[in-house]
Amino acid sequence: MERLQKVLAQAGVASRRQAEVLIQEGKVQVNGKIVTELGIKVDPEKDRISVKGKPIQKEGKRTFLFYKPLYVISSMADPQGRKVIPDFFRHVPERVYPVGRLDFDTEGLLLVTNDGELANHLLHPRFEVEKQYVATVNGVPDESSLEQLRNGIYLEDGLTAPAEVRMIHKGDDEAKIKLTIHEGRNRQVRRMCKEIGHPVKHLIRTRLANLTVKGLRRGEYREVSAAEVRQLK
Ligand code: URA
Repeated sequence: MERLQKVLAQAGVASRRQAEVLIQEGKVQVNGKIVTELGIKVDPEKDRISVKGKPIQKEGKRTFLFYKPLYVISSMADPQGRKVIPDFFRHVPERVYPVGRLDFDTEGLLLVTNDGELANHLLHPRFEVEKQYVATVNGVPDESSLEQLRNGIYLEDGLTAPAEVRMIHKGDDEAKIKLTIHEGRNRQVRRMCKEIGHPVKHLIRTRLANLTVKGLRRGEYREVSAAEVRQLK
């Protein structure tokens, strides 16, 4: 058992002193009940602790931001012997696995974690986590095609939700567009672009919620801090 403010500080919520203030302000709940007393002890493994309604990160949970290179499978094993996620995480003793997938031929940001609660949260359609992509497409879509992408495209699994779409580069026979979507259907960006007559030649996921690939090179990863994990939940 440990003091609540110490557990909060270790989970990256705030400094110990700031954690005390949060407790006194009634922002901290233990097992569903607001706690305002400073001395109480909790079991960081068993007690459900949340701050401003968000659960704190449990001990032993690790989350990484990984820049998945092209031609890597977003899974733990591949019968065909292609590169998979554990090939890049040999030095991480925890069994971390990808949150969702990027296509074999898509590169960019993939979260890798052993935090099942976080993974479920991020994958649940209800939470509408923003994902941003840069797609290089064949041909140069006109404004009305981009508008179609924004408003929704009928795919075989139904109409896509509204998206933010912006042209970022026009070439002679290709263009780069930035798309921000909240859904995560299988090959969604590829199918959307194909539907407007501009198939994707190259796809990068550049952002997931507040996390971007900036500063990471292909195949590199960095640990996501407990404070960043809190923002994701
Ligand atoms: N959309 C796609 O089409 N592919 C991905 O890998 C991710 C989103």
